[in-house]
Amino acid sequence: MKIPARSALSWCAALCVIAAVGFCGFAVYDRSGRADAKAAGDERIGLYASTLNQVVERFRTLPFVLANDERIHRLLEAPTDPARIDTVNRSLASLAAAAGADALYVMNAAGLTLAASNYDQPKSFIGENYSFRPYFRDAVTRGFGQFFAIGVTTGEPGYFLSRPVWRNGELLGVAVVKISLEGLEADWRSAGETIALADNRGVLFLASPPNWKYRPIRPLSEAERTDIKRSMQYSGISLEGWPLLKHARSPDNGDVVDIAMADSDLHSFLVTRSDLQGYGWTLYAFTELAPIRHAAILAGAASALTAAVLLLLSLWWRGRRATLRAKLDAHDMLEQRVTERTHELVRANESLSREIEDRRRAEDALKRAQDELVQASKLAALGQMSAALAHEINQPLAALKTTLASAKLLIRNGSTERAAATVATIDDLVARMSELTQHLRTFARKDFGETEPVDITVVAQRALALANARLGAEGVRTVIDMPAGGATVIGNATRLEQVLLNLLGNAADAVANERERTIAVSVVQDDGQVQISVADSGPGIAPQNLASVFDPFFTTKQVGKGLGLGLSISYAIIEDHGGRLRARNRADGGAEFSFNLPVAQPAAPAATAIGA
Ligand code: ADP
Repeated sequence: MKIPARSALSWCAALCVIAAVGFCGFAVYDRSGRADAKAAGDERIGLYASTLNQVVERFRTLPFVLANDERIHRLLEAPTDPARIDTVNRSLASLAAAAGADALYVMNAAGLTLAASNYDQPKSFIGENYSFRPYFRDAVTRGFGQFFAIGVTTGEPGYFLSRPVWRNGELLGVAVVKISLEGLEADWRSAGETIALADNRGVLFLASPPNWKYRPIRPLSEAERTDIKRSMQYSGISLEGWPLLKHARSPDNGDVVDIAMADSDLHSFLVTRSDLQGYGWTLYAFTELAPIRHAAILAGAASALTAAVLLLLSLWWRGRRATLRAKLDAHDMLEQRVTERTHELVRANESLSREIEDRRRAEDALKRAQDELVQASKLAALGQMSAALAHEINQPLAALKTTLASAKLLIRNGSTERAAATVATIDDLVARMSELTQHLRTFARKDFGETEPVDITVVAQRALALANARLGAEGVRTVIDMPAGGATVIGNATRLEQVLLNLLGNAADAVANERERTIAVSVVQDDGQVQISVADSGPGIAPQNLASVFDPFFTTKQVGKGLGLGLSISYAIIEDHGGRLRARNRADGGAEFSFNLPVAQPAAPAATAIGA
C-alpha cells in the first residue's frame, strides 16, 4: 500500500510531537523528583545530625563529672590501693549502667588504666595503656578530647570523650567515657535509609549499607593512612580496599554519584551532606535515583500516551467534522433538488389542474351537446312518427265523428240507453287519444331528471305504446316477452324509453321492406341482471357495418330518412346507466340489439302487454 507523502509527513509530525511531549514529561518529573528528594534529604540529614548530637551530648559532661570525683582523685593518689580501685571500679560500673555508656575508665598521667566499668569482664581496660590515643593527648594538652575509634582491647567501635583530672595544678590522670554509636546505625537501617557518617579524613565509620563501613569515601593520601595507623583508630581494619567514590573530592550537597552496591551494579544516588561542626565529621544521606527515574519514565510515557490520545481525538474530531460537513452539504444539495423538484411538481400540478378544468368544461359542453342531440333526435323521431301519429289520431277521430253522429241519432230517437253505450265508446276513444298524447309529451320533454327505481317492463310498454301507431300502420307484428312481476332497475325512465323507442324505430325501418315483419321485445331477469333486447326479422346489419353502427352520424338510410344519431345517443344513455348496448345478427336472420342493467329491487306489477 502506498502512503501519500502528505499523510506520511503528518504522521511524522504527530510522532515528533508525541516524543517531545513524552520527553518533556520525563524531564519535568525527573527534575521535580530530584528536587523533592533533595528537599527530603536535607530534612532527613538535619534530623539525623541532631539525633547524633543529642546522643553525644548526653555523655559530654560525664568525663567532667568523673574528673571531679573525690574517689577517683584518691585512687589516682594511691593507684595500688585495692580498696580504692575496687570502690572506683564499682562506682564506674554502676554509673555506666545507669547512663547507658559503653565504658567508663580512668587512666593515670602516663595513660595506664587504673579503674574501669568493665573491670570484671574478660576484655577489661584495666592495665591497658592508651596514651597513644589522641583523646588522651588532647585531654592533657587541650583540656578535653573526643575521638572515634575501634577499641584496641575489645575490638568494638566507640566514641571516646575525655577530660584531664587535676589536683592542685598537678595532672593526676584522664577520665574517659566510651559510647557506642551502633544504635544510630541500626536506626538508619531499620528506617530503610542510606546514611553514612565520615570522619575528618573521609572514612565512613557508620553506614547503613553494611559493606560501606570503614571504606573511605574518596582515595586516602599516604599521610592520612600513616596517621590512622599511628592512632590505631581502625585497628584490625584494612583501608586498602577501593574507595566508595573514585574521585579525590568528597561530593557536594546535591551531587549525583554512582556507587557499586552489593549486587556490583552501579547505582546512582543523589547526595545530601551536612558537616557536623565540633566533630569534624560529615553526615551523608544518599537517595537512590532509580525510583525517581522510573517514576519520571512512567510520567513521560503517560504524557506521551496522553498526547497520542489527544492527537487521535483531535484527528477523529476533524474527521467527524469533515463527515458532518459533507453530510450537511449533501443534505443542502438534496434539499435544493427537492425544492426544485417541488417547484416543477407544483407547476406540473397547476398545468394538470388547468387541463382538468379544460377537460371538465369540455365534458360539460359535450354533455350539453349530447343532451341537445338527444332532444334533436327525439324531435326527429317525433317528426318521423308524425305521419303514423296523424293516422293514429285520425282513426279515433273518424270513429269519434261516426260514433258522435250515431249518438246524436240515438238521443234524438230517445233510445238513451244505447246512446249512453255509444257515449262510453266515445269516452274510450278520447281516453286512447289522451294516452297517446300523454306519451308524446313525456317523450318530447327535455327532462333527464334524477335516476330512481324504474320498472323496465313499464318503460318498454310505454315505448311500444308510442311506436304502436307506426307498427300497426306498417303491419308489423310485435312479440313481447316480459316477466309478469316486472323488473326494477335504477335509471331514468324517460331516457330508457328514448333508447327503446329508438331501437323499435330502427327495427321498424329494418322490417319495412320484408315480407315477414316481426319485432320481438324481451325483458329477462337473471342473476341480479335484467337483459332487454329488441330483435327484428329484417335483413340484419352488414358485417362490415357491425363495428360502426354506434358511431355518430353513421347511417345507411336515405338522405332525409336517418341522421345516424339514434344508436350513438342510445349507447351513451345505456353507458350512463352502467350498461352496454350491443348489436348482433341473429342466426335465424335479422338484427338484435340488447343491453343489461343491474336489478334494483323487486319490481312493481307489470302493465299488460301491448300487441299490434
Ligand atoms: P339512423 O337510424 O338515423 O340511420 P341509427 O344510429 O339509429 O341512425 O342507425 C344507424 C344505422 O344502423 C342504420 O342506418 C342502419 O344501417 C343500422 N341499423 C340500425 N338498426 C338496425 C336494424 N334493426 N337492422 C339493420 N340495420 C340497423
